[in-house]
Amino acid sequence: MQKKYIIEDDLKYIWRPFTQMKTLENESNKPIVIQKGRGIYLEDIDGNKYIDAVSSWWVNTLGHSNKRLNKAIYKQAKKIEHVIFAGFTHENVVKFSKKLVNMMNNKLTKVFFSDNGSTAVEVALKMAYQYQVLKGRSEKRKFIALKNSYHGDTLGAVSVGGIDMYHKLYKPLLFEIEQALSPYCYRCPMNCNKETCNCECLKSVEDILIKDSVHIAGIIIEPLVQAAGGMIMYPPKYITKLRALCDKYNILLIDDEVAMGFYRTGKLFAYEHACVVPDIVCAAKGITAGYMPLSVTLTTDEIFNAFYDDDLDGYKTFYHGHSYTAYPLALAVAYENLKILEEMNIEEYLKPKIAKFSKELEKFRLHKNVGDIRQTGMICAIELVKDKETKEPFSYEEGIGKKIYLEGLKLGAILRPMWNCIYFITPYIITEKEIEKLTDIAYKALNKVLPEEK
Ligand SMILES: *Cc1c(COP(=O)(O)O)cnc(C)c1O
Repeated sequence: MQKKYIIEDDLKYIWRPFTQMKTLENESNKPIVIQKGRGIYLEDIDGNKYIDAVSSWWVNTLGHSNKRLNKAIYKQAKKIEHVIFAGFTHENVVKFSKKLVNMMNNKLTKVFFSDNGSTAVEVALKMAYQYQVLKGRSEKRKFIALKNSYHGDTLGAVSVGGIDMYHKLYKPLLFEIEQALSPYCYRCPMNCNKETCNCECLKSVEDILIKDSVHIAGIIIEPLVQAAGGMIMYPPKYITKLRALCDKYNILLIDDEVAMGFYRTGKLFAYEHACVVPDIVCAAKGITAGYMPLSVTLTTDEIFNAFYDDDLDGYKTFYHGHSYTAYPLALAVAYENLKILEEMNIEEYLKPKIAKFSKELEKFRLHKNVGDIRQTGMICAIELVKDKETKEPFSYEEGIGKKIYLEGLKLGAILRPMWNCIYFITPYIITEKEIEKLTDIAYKALNKVLPEEK
């Protein structure tokens, strides 16, 4: 099919995510037709190649069209593509679960499957509330969530979201939450200084708990990075201290690792940096290396056992499931992914790449519009400002991110700045040379849109 007709029919039949559809009338907003992917590159129908600097929405970890992962799906498809997960099981789901639990080697011993990040969060919220009910604390029906948080687009996940542009409109449909401050170090809500910070912003969590902990079931966080909120990064000690608060006030810590899980931060899960264990962990992106939709909600024996009973009237059963729960094709690739990561010795493998990104980010430091440079493992972000002194942001209407995106495309990289934030979330297999190339492209794109005065 010719490119012209593909785009024409795309616009005619398809309603795109996160998109004001009328903007597609503009030529520069027409979707790019991708026909293949190899490693870190995507190739469009005209043969242009782009570095996939956003890992196809933060999911791809081992590159596109990985031979072993392709084979795992193909092999599985010949055996069984899907089977109901009530009353039946299959080998890969068992092997995957056992391996994952062993890799964590802690109190998170039970794996509940669903098929995307939002549903992993829904599962976590329902599980946490029902656990409290089963423990005789049914008045604990509220959650704490953070400003600037993003946990997905289904209504439960939106209820705990904290980004006005995505979430505010739906407020009449949502359940009530308590919102605490965002640990936004560059724009610290407590006016603290990064060097002397002692996570003073956690006081906003404790204030809620002092007032109302009898009504709070749990708190949900994105560990170390509030990703969709603008790659806002905060130190591990925040999570360590938050764990202590959760214990003190008897609420659950729900850790949404959907974006950070599977080594994005350099460790299997981001909470490990804080040397604590959450009560519930959600994971999705990266779980199949970006190949198939799949997610897990992990929890402890303590929570699992509260549901475990002879009772059959439904009250102690966890009534949640999806048509594609534990989808065999996805589990085949997820299990192969775990094996590959283990063979790569992934934590060691990532260290020089993380260091290389750190070094290359320095070239942005002196640019007049670079306010902050942040990095957590394989996530890098550059926050742009109008004025370094005042940290005044560019307005949304100025469309700086969009302009940089378009320059990036011309130079061969898919950068997808959010608001005023250029970021890199690349496949792990990016080489040090390619890191140089990508950051050079980003720097050029930035300078094209916001030139330095001579
Ligand atoms: C992307 C994301 C989600 C939602 O995952 P989907 O698979 O897009 O539904 C939830 N939480 C976080 C932290 C995410 O980044």
